[in-house]
Amino acid sequence: MKKIMAVNAGSSSLKFKLVAMPEEKYIAEGIFERIGSKDAVFKICLVLENGEKKELKKETMAIKNHAQAVSILLEDLVNLNIVKELNEITGVGHRIVHGGEYFDKSALVDEEVLEKIESLCDLAPLHNPAHLIGIRAFMAVLPDTPSVVVFDTAFHQTMESVAYMYALPYAWYEKYRVRKYGFHGTSHDYVSKRAAVLHKKDVKDLKIVTLHLGNGASLCAVKNGKCVDTSMGLTPLGGIPMGTRSGDIDPAVVEFISTKEKLTAKEIVNILNKGSGYLGISGISNDSRDMEAGIKRGDARCRLALDLQYKRIADFIGSYYVYMGGIDIIVFTAGIGENSKRCRRKIMERLAVLGVKINTEANENSEGETLISANDSNIAVYVIPTNEEIMIARDTMTLINN
Ligand code: ADP
Repeated sequence: MKKIMAVNAGSSSLKFKLVAMPEEKYIAEGIFERIGSKDAVFKICLVLENGEKKELKKETMAIKNHAQAVSILLEDLVNLNIVKELNEITGVGHRIVHGGEYFDKSALVDEEVLEKIESLCDLAPLHNPAHLIGIRAFMAVLPDTPSVVVFDTAFHQTMESVAYMYALPYAWYEKYRVRKYGFHGTSHDYVSKRAAVLHKKDVKDLKIVTLHLGNGASLCAVKNGKCVDTSMGLTPLGGIPMGTRSGDIDPAVVEFISTKEKLTAKEIVNILNKGSGYLGISGISNDSRDMEAGIKRGDARCRLALDLQYKRIADFIGSYYVYMGGIDIIVFTAGIGENSKRCRRKIMERLAVLGVKINTEANENSEGETLISANDSNIAVYVIPTNEEIMIARDTMTLINN
């Protein structure tokens, strides 16, 4: 059995899962939050045979930086008897948000790879610098353990220029690589492949649309196993409205509001990222559960917040239907896609024109991987829990073995 550490480092957080391979079973998982503060929180759980989690430690402590967090984590893995020795960890796989045009697949980390990720910090200023800190922190403490990087953008690199280019001056693409990249690729890749397995067909013979609906949300059109289009853009701000992000808007809004409210472009983009979507429309929250509760109280703005998102999702699905020449399967995944029956029902109702028919009972009671469309539906609709860490562990194993 090999043990792979799957890591997702954010600017002040670090999430990890220790995965047994090739069994693909979780051994332990945890999170550091508020790294860089006196009251950082470290939590680590053991994952039991039945999948339940047993909390081994939850502590508030001062943690200066990611390197210190990684040292604490590795010490505790031994102290808490999760591993006997650190050399049992055969590889560390890191999730990286932006791989630009450099990476169409995962890569073994070396100096050149790190330089490329560094050069993409402009495109993902909140994420890539944090990932680099995470990678270097593990390399410092485990210098002999290979690291692998797995990119959110890589799966989308198969799009053709007609799907990824913006109709902007071509020089902006030549000089700055301004184009659509797409994100959540690891999730779209995983659930599209699972859908083919559940549907008992080769993914190469299918047209699939995957809906990753979490706090961040994106859609992906997967034809014959390859991404042909996706909703997010140069950054994760594009596409459909989300918890706090606007999704696509008329770009002229930026100058208009800049004049009216005396704000800079940077300040406005910050509001498009953090103060829009569910939060902006409802004025209450970025959480879909709060929107659903608001609707029950008769709050029209909560209803509008969800309706705006569902309409845009249906619009994208319609456009993918045309672009791919049909759709065989639609998949719901991530926090909202996996949990909100109302969201799934409302979107499926909008798709009735494409011959989508819901199996109401299956939708209401779905647990884990579930077919929620009726037998005579033109398009099969599944709920499939996403599993990005398993994809990270798989790629890490493959690259290390090579
Ligand atoms: P991210 O990883 O992008 O932060 P998640 O995939 O965890 O997000 O999804 C978070 C979203 O999932 C939140 O909007 C939350 O309200 C929603 N969610 C979680 N559970 C439920 C539920 N039972 N019903 C409706 N929405 C849910």
